[in-house]
Amino acid sequence: MSYDVVVVGCGPVGALAANLLGLKGLQVLVLERELEHYPLPRAVHLDHEMMRLFQSAGVIGRVEGDMIATDGHLHIGADRGVIRYMGTVGKPRPFGWANDYFFYQPELEAHLRQGFAAMPNVALKLGASFTGLSQDAGGVTVDYLDGDGPATAHTRWVIACDGARSSVRKVLGAELDDLRFEEPWLVVDAEVEGPVSFPPFSGVPEGADLQHLSVMMCDPARPATVVPGRRDHRRWEFMLLPGEDDAAMSHPEKVAELVGAWMADVPHKIVRAATYRFHGLVAHQWQVGNVFLAGDAAHQTPPFFGQGMCHGLRDVANLAWKMDAVANEGADASLLGSYQGERDPHVRAVIGAAVAAGRYICELDPAQAALRDAHIREEARQKSGETAHDLIPAIAEGVLLPGTSGAGARFVQPVLADGRKLDDLTGGDWRLFVRDDAVPGRAAGVTRIAASTLPDNGAVTAWLDDHGVDAVLVRPDHYVFGSASHSAEDLLAARAAQLFSHRELAA
Ligand SMILES: Cc1cc2nc3c(=O)[nH]c(=O)nc-3n(C[C@H](O)[C@H](O)[C@H](O)COP(=O)(O)OP(=O)(O)OC[C@H]3O[C@@H](n4cnc5c(N)ncnc54)[C@H](O)[C@@H]3O)c2cc1C
Repeated sequence: MSYDVVVVGCGPVGALAANLLGLKGLQVLVLERELEHYPLPRAVHLDHEMMRLFQSAGVIGRVEGDMIATDGHLHIGADRGVIRYMGTVGKPRPFGWANDYFFYQPELEAHLRQGFAAMPNVALKLGASFTGLSQDAGGVTVDYLDGDGPATAHTRWVIACDGARSSVRKVLGAELDDLRFEEPWLVVDAEVEGPVSFPPFSGVPEGADLQHLSVMMCDPARPATVVPGRRDHRRWEFMLLPGEDDAAMSHPEKVAELVGAWMADVPHKIVRAATYRFHGLVAHQWQVGNVFLAGDAAHQTPPFFGQGMCHGLRDVANLAWKMDAVANEGADASLLGSYQGERDPHVRAVIGAAVAAGRYICELDPAQAALRDAHIREEARQKSGETAHDLIPAIAEGVLLPGTSGAGARFVQPVLADGRKLDDLTGGDWRLFVRDDAVPGRAAGVTRIAASTLPDNGAVTAWLDDHGVDAVLVRPDHYVFGSASHSAEDLLAARAAQLFSHRELAA
C-alpha cells in the first residue's frame, strides 16, 4: 500500500500530526518504536495555541478535562524578591483559552492516540522502528523493522517526529546548530497531598497565587523551578552545581532532601527523578526532498518557558494544512518549501528567549546574581504587564501577504454569546472575515464570514478596527495571511497566487 504521509515516531508531535492529517482524509502510517507511549511526564506546560490546535484536531473534548489553567510564571531573585512576573491574572484571553495550562504528558499522549484510533485512513504500527529511507521522483521508500522482521512503506511525504535522537535526522545528515547553552538539571516529579511551602517573597503582585504559578528560584545557591501540575502532580527542577554527580543527585535520599525542603508536613510520594542536559539546538535543514523534521527531531530548547513540545505541535500544524492543500486542493507542491522559512526563525526566537532566561537563571556567582536581579527587575519594569504570550513572535516570512496589517500574527478566537469558541462556529480551514456583507471578495476553499453577523460581542470587528482594515484572511493554522481595506479581492488573489502559482504557469 502507498501512503500520503509516513509519520516516524508517535510522541505528542507525531500523534498530533496523525490526527490533523487523518481528519483531512490523507492516508497515514505512523511508525512507533515502542509498544507503549512514554509513561513518565516530561512536558508539563502548554499554551492557548496548543488548545486551539487540539480544537482543530477534534481532540479538545478528550484533553480539556486534564488541563489545569494557570496564572503564568514568576522569577524570584537571589534576595528573595520578585524580579520578573509574566502573570495572566485578570488579563483578557483574546485566543479563547487561558494563556498557560499544566498537564500530565502521558495522559495527553494517550488522548492524542485515541483521537486517531478510529480513523480508517490512519494506521499506527507499534514496535516498528525506522531504519532507513531512499527518495526518488515517485516519493519516499521507508525501511523499518517490526516484530515480523524488515519491512518497507512507500509514501509521498515523511514527517520525522522521532525525538531528540532522531534516526531520520541522522540518515538525512542534517546537522544541529548548537545555541551554546548546556546545563545539567535534576527533574523530580511527585504526587503531593497539599500545598508547597514557599519562603516569604517580597514584591509578589496582588492576585498572584504561588500555588498556581510556575516559580523560578534564581538562587545562586541552587537554581530551581517549582511547577504545579494537574491534580496531585508537582514538578521540581534543580540545577546541578559544578562537581555534582548525576547518580548521587538522583539518589532517593538526596531527592527526598531537596523536595522535602518545600513540603513541610505535606505527605508526598516521589514518582521519578532523572537528570537532563538542558540545551538549545536547531537543525540546519528541516527538509530534504519530501522528508521533513518536526518536534524535538528539528529543535530542542531549555524548558524555562515550557515551549519545547509546543514548538513541535506548531511544526506539524504548519505541515498538515500545507500537505492537505497539496494533496486535496491541488496546491503547488512547492508550498511545502515554505515550512522551514516560517518555522525556523519562529523557533529560534523563542529558544533564544529561553536560553537568555537560562543564562540569568543559572547564575551561580552571588555578586553577579545581585547585579542580575537589579537588571532583570529594571527590564521587567519596562515591559510591565508582560505575559508568556509576548515571547511568541509573528511569522515573518512565508505564505503571507507581507506589509499588510497583522500578517503573520495569530488571529483572535473570541468566545461567542452561546459559550462556543469562534473556530467551533467557523471551522478551522481558510477563513475570510469581512467587516460586513458590502466588502467584496469570495474564493473557493475559503469560508467567508461577515463580522457584523457574529455573536462575538464585537471582537472580530474590534480586530479590524485596531488594524485599520475591512478584511482579514486567516490560515488553517490560525495565523493571519494578510488583511485589506475596502475589498478582499486582491487578498484572495494573493493567496491563490501563492498556493496555486503552477496553475497560472500551465494556463
Ligand atoms: C524535563 C523536561 C521538561 C519539559 N517541559 C516542557 C514543557 O513544560 N512544555 C513543553 O512544551 N515542552 C517541554 N519539554 C519538551 C517536551 O517534552 C518535548 O519537546 C516533547 O516531548 C517532544 O515531542 P516529540 O514528539 O517531538 O518527541 P518525543 O516525545 O521524544 O517522541 C519521539 C517518539 O519517537 C519514537 N521513536 C524514536 N526513534 C524511533 C524510530 N527509529 N522509529 C520509530 N519511532 C521512533 C519514540 O519512541 C517516541 O515515541 C520538556 C522536556 C523535558 C526533558
